[in-house]
Amino acid sequence: MKATLTKKVHEYDDVYTFFFDAPGVRYKAGQYAHLKAGGIFDIGAVREMSFASVPGTPELMFSMHVASKSTFKQKMAALLPGDTIRLFGIGGHISLPENHTEDLVFIAGGVGMTPFRSMILEAKARGTHTISLIQVQRGDFLYRKELAPLVSDYHAVRPEEFIDAIKTGVGRHRDGLFYVCGSKRLVTAAVKTLREMGIRKDRIQIEEY
Ligand SMILES: Cc1cc2nc3c(=O)[nH]c(=O)nc-3n(C[C@H](O)[C@H](O)[C@H](O)COP(=O)(O)OP(=O)(O)OC[C@H]3O[C@@H](n4cnc5c(N)ncnc54)[C@H](O)[C@@H]3O)c2cc1C
Repeated sequence: MKATLTKKVHEYDDVYTFFFDAPGVRYKAGQYAHLKAGGIFDIGAVREMSFASVPGTPELMFSMHVASKSTFKQKMAALLPGDTIRLFGIGGHISLPENHTEDLVFIAGGVGMTPFRSMILEAKARGTHTISLIQVQRGDFLYRKELAPLVSDYHAVRPEEFIDAIKTGVGRHRDGLFYVCGSKRLVTAAVKTLREMGIRKDRIQIEEY
């Protein structure tokens, strides 16, 4: 499917958010798509990217670092409004629960926030979940201004404070559903901590970048 860039927003450092017009694309909060940038000869210029946009909103939204020298990132960094990319293979490992009364705890490292923007906005629209968010980042916190006011508990922490933040943040949400997204290292550390705190494996959903 073809997606046309409508705008590109600088978030911080080398992180940009891309907005696309792509009528007819169907997805659920928490899912990702394969994006292909460049022409047919740019073999390998495909990467999986989580939808940061909310299903049903007019534009698709993806956020990513663009500074790496991969062909995909060079092509993405060079995109201008009106340029097109291809989008295919929508899938997902994480999703909101059927039960609209579950407490939801989101733990994100860096751009691991992308699927959580979609999920938090959709969960918030349900109006029934208690939502907590722990963001871990060395520098700026992606979507902080937008999302922090929407959740009940918000923790923005540096990597060295991360484990303590989980222990503090989980507190009264022990019976909730836990979502972790970020690097393999971050996901492993977060899941280990949650399990040590007695959170059942089937209550934890992960997305590794
Ligand atoms: C389901 C899913 C959803 C995702 N959603 C997002 C998202 O929303 N936003 C986002 O930013 N990312 C997301 N990712 C990650 C994304 O798909 C890319 O893997 C990531 O952005 C890195 O791509 P790249 O082209 O910059 O680096 P790549 O070329 O893919 O390289 C990956 C890493 O390996 C290093 N590397 C590459 N080649 C070498 C080499 N020869 N020697 C040593 N090191 C090397 C690079 O420096 C880089 O750090 C997602 C991944 C998955 C699986």
